[in-house]
Amino acid sequence: MSARDRLRIAIQKSGRLSDASLDLLARCGLTFRRSRDKLFCFGETLAVDLLLVRDDDVPNMIAEGVCDLGIVGRNVLDEQFLAAGCAGQPAGFRELRALGFGRCRLALAVPQEFQYVEPAQLGGKRIATTYPNLLAKWLERAGVDAGIVSLSGSVEIAPRLGTADFICDLVSSGATLAANQLKEAAVVLESEAVLAAGATLPGDERGELIDMLLRRIDGVIQVRASKLVMWHSPRSALEEITRLLPNGPRPTVTSIEGLENEVAVQAICNEAITWQHLEDMKRAGARQMLVLPVEQMLA
Ligand code: ATP
Ligand code: ZN
Repeated sequence: MSARDRLRIAIQKSGRLSDASLDLLARCGLTFRRSRDKLFCFGETLAVDLLLVRDDDVPNMIAEGVCDLGIVGRNVLDEQFLAAGCAGQPAGFRELRALGFGRCRLALAVPQEFQYVEPAQLGGKRIATTYPNLLAKWLERAGVDAGIVSLSGSVEIAPRLGTADFICDLVSSGATLAANQLKEAAVVLESEAVLAAGATLPGDERGELIDMLLRRIDGVIQVRASKLVMWHSPRSALEEITRLLPNGPRPTVTSIEGLENEVAVQAICNEAITWQHLEDMKRAGARQMLVLPVEQMLA
C-alpha cells in the first residue's frame, strides 16, 4: 500500500446512495471541490478526499488500499465478504457503522398465487438472484437444498421467462415485485448503507482522521432522531412527567425566580416525540411545552 497522508472515502457516483452519502459527509463538516471528470473530490476543510465509483467497486477498493473508507449497502458488502471467503481469501474490509439510510431488504419473492409457509417449500426449486452467496448462506441455515441461478440483473422477470421458480432480490416498497406478479415471502437480509473500512485501521494521521470522522458521524446519526424537550411544571410532578418521555431521559431542572414550587425543565430525547407524549405530559402537570430539533451534538 502506498503511503498517503490524506484520507480517501469511496462513495457511489450516481445512484440511490449518492445524495445521502454526500449529505452525511457535509453534515460532518466536510466540503469538497469536484475535479473536472467528477470522479475525484478534493477535501477543502479536512485532509479527506472522495472517490466517486460504482457501489460494487467500493469493497475491493478498500481491500486494495485505494481508499480507506467507503459507503456502500450492507447487501453489497456482505455478499462480497462471503464471496471472498468462498474463494479462500480474507475479505480485507468490514462494516464500521450502520448509517441509517438506503434501507431495503434482500427478500425471497414468490409468484402471487404461491402459498408460501416455510423455507422447506423451496427444496429442489430454482431461485434467481444477483446475491448468490447471501442466498446460499440463508438456504444453508434453513437446511434447504435449492438451486441458485446467478444472474447479473433483471432478476424479477426470471420466473416469467421460466429460468427460475422464485427470486431473491432487493425490495423497499414491493412495487417492482407487484408489477411482476410476485410477492415477498421471507427476508434474507435487512440492509442499509454502511460505512466500510479495511480489516485494520491505519495507525497514522489517517487513523486519527477516521476516529474524528466516526465521532462526527455518530453525532449526526444521533441528532437525526434527537429532540430537546422543554416544559414548566410543579416540582412534585417532575418524576412522573419525565417517566412519560421515551427512554426516560435525565432532565436538567432549573428553579423559577419567585415561584417556589415550579421548575423549568429540559431533556434530550433520542426517540420521536408524538402529540400523545405531550398530551400525557400535560395531564401530569406540564405546561409551556416546547419540542426543538437538535442541530449538532458531540458526546
Ligand atoms: P451502480 O451504478 O453504482 O452499480 P446500482 O444500480 O448497483 O448502482 P442502486 O440501484 O443505486 O445501485 O442501489 C444502490 C444501493 O441502494 C443498493 O445496493 C441497496 O443497498 C440500496 N437500496 C435501497 N433501496 C433499494 C431498492 N429498492 N432497490 C435496490 N437497492 C436499494
Ligand atoms: Zn451496483
